[in-house]
Amino acid sequence: MHPSLSAVPKLPDFAAELNPEQYAAVMTNARHALVVAGAGSGKTRTLTFRVARLLASGVPSWRILLLTFTNKAAREMLARVGELTGVDSSHLWGGTFHSVANRLLRRYAERLGYQPGFTILDSDDQRSLFRALVKQYAGKTTKKDRFPKPELLLSLHSLAHNTGRSWQRTMDEEYAYLEQHADTIGRIFEGYAQRKAESNAMDFDDLLLNFVRLLRENTDVRQELQQRFLHVLVDEYQDTNVLQEELISLLVGGDNTSLMVVGDDAQSIYSWRGAKVDHIFNFCNTYPDAEMHKIETNYRSVPAILEVSNVAIAHNSRQIVKVLRPARHDNRLRPAVIPAPDNRTEAQMVAREIDSLLESGVSGRDIAVLYRAHFHSLDVQMELSRHHIPYRITSGLRFFEQAHIKDVLAVLRLLVNPRDEVAFRRLVSTFPRVGDATATKIWSGWQQIVEHMPQEDLMHMRYSEQMRPVAVAPAVRPHWGAFLAIMDTLHPVGQELTPPELVKRVQNYLDAHLRATYENYEERLEDISQLSRTVGDSPSLDDFLSQVALLSEADQEVQPDDDCVTLSTIHQAKGLEWKVVFIIFLAEGLFPHYRVITEGNDDALEEETRLFYVAVTRAEDRLYMSFPRYNGHSYDSQYCPPSRFLTTLPPELLDVWEC
Ligand code: ATP
Ligand code: MG
Repeated sequence: MHPSLSAVPKLPDFAAELNPEQYAAVMTNARHALVVAGAGSGKTRTLTFRVARLLASGVPSWRILLLTFTNKAAREMLARVGELTGVDSSHLWGGTFHSVANRLLRRYAERLGYQPGFTILDSDDQRSLFRALVKQYAGKTTKKDRFPKPELLLSLHSLAHNTGRSWQRTMDEEYAYLEQHADTIGRIFEGYAQRKAESNAMDFDDLLLNFVRLLRENTDVRQELQQRFLHVLVDEYQDTNVLQEELISLLVGGDNTSLMVVGDDAQSIYSWRGAKVDHIFNFCNTYPDAEMHKIETNYRSVPAILEVSNVAIAHNSRQIVKVLRPARHDNRLRPAVIPAPDNRTEAQMVAREIDSLLESGVSGRDIAVLYRAHFHSLDVQMELSRHHIPYRITSGLRFFEQAHIKDVLAVLRLLVNPRDEVAFRRLVSTFPRVGDATATKIWSGWQQIVEHMPQEDLMHMRYSEQMRPVAVAPAVRPHWGAFLAIMDTLHPVGQELTPPELVKRVQNYLDAHLRATYENYEERLEDISQLSRTVGDSPSLDDFLSQVALLSEADQEVQPDDDCVTLSTIHQAKGLEWKVVFIIFLAEGLFPHYRVITEGNDDALEEETRLFYVAVTRAEDRLYMSFPRYNGHSYDSQYCPPSRFLTTLPPELLDVWEC
């Protein structure tokens, strides 16, 4: 136990720290309680104080279970509980559903046919198992050349799991282009289950499913846990999926356990991963004795931001109506709406504003740039690097570190410099069944030819002729031939293709590889289109490639996290708050996404609206909302009308800028 912590709890002054609505929820003795309130009203704070109150009133920490959206959120809440009560909460069970399931399954593994000490397969392990299975089952099919890669099969497998659908249905609905391989995929999935069982291993998805099975099928275990946990508390309840919901109801199904869930139906944004907003709507039917608490004060945002968020969500049809009153005073800064001529100018505006905020003393850690899709952040990443503003990205890899972007860049690099070994190897490795050893062999043949070639000849060579002497195995020959042919069309003597045209051709060339290799194929295409727009901004391909190289170098300077600006998708920003928030790419087709618009799916559009609401409500003091009138300014630029989320806001709430 930490020396400053003791077994005798301090009593925080709950009434002073909480408003009456929060206080009532913290102090309630109701068996089942739902706290439903808008963003920034102190739901997470209420749950934290509730844990403190339970400990302060003598509930042993090991009899409390706190379920949160991330493990980090649980750690922060428990640290706060420690400060408030002085009680050591290290025995309190807090974390995500998965981490709690893992801890409990360790004890009861045998009940499910596992040995104690089962291993959890991380994604690397899963990939290598799948690789072996693909070899075994797809090795002899005639379609083997472009059989989907292990990563892609894994994401199909996982999505089916989490949405409670069969893999066949999931494939039909979301990966229809894999249909031709259905039989083999089925065999691979069966083989996967068998191998996992034989090696006493569970993957991440199994944790949840097995834990639910454990409780469903074993009355004694269920009762033991129901006896153990006196209190189950759940944050972000609006985004629980069917398995998580079942798990909660199994845990609290005895006579002993109280349940408090907190959430905001207006912030349910994970239906695509299986979350069901119905759980929050139906809570009072599921638990008829439930007490409902509403909190109607917002502590996070200044009134001008709160008004925008209230209007933004008001049109959604299905919601528990909540009106939020501001607790904070007006800072007289209305949210800014900034139409930019194009994506580059938009990013420059963001970087300039951030620069001046930093100069005026705002810390980088208090600033976030939020967007609907990861690729929207490309230009901002480039501009921040140019301005030497440190940033961290929570939504994934830096744009140019993404595998599919590196694949495209490899072709471009090779065009500019046929002696580029790294690019060459990367490209050759996109051929089916080419590993390191084969790549080395082909490289040495290639190198011998390019090594002594004068620069002028290098730039004008006809690859399919010049590279004829390079020895490649018969199985690789068709792909090799296709590669040389595309290099020739990309590099036609006497005809200059514009960089965006080049990218487009490279994309077409890599299409089969992209489909077979990566999950989220469609999103990756969007990334590549964005790349092509950005390339179009550069005077030449050489120039663009050196910029990318310099960017990667600048990004390697390590910055303490604390000083960094955050770049995040809105999904990842759930539950968090920043003094200053930029929401970028707020244009029709980008946010809301064009697919949602063209399909005319009302539910999907309402989820987009909730996503916008989540974004707006992250801001405490200052909110900037911008969009590019044109995305790209080369031949394939896209005209972008402002997002309906902006045009439906009353103009008097906003401050429209020109940039
Ligand atoms: P979200 O819906 O985004 O998850 P939330 O409802 O969980 O938000 P919190 O994150 O708990 O809200 O609180 C928002 C901000 O308001 C935090 O900075 C919190 O400390 C502050 N806050 C909440 N309640 C009070 C209060 N009674 N007095 C002072 N500050 C408060
Ligand atoms: Mg919260």
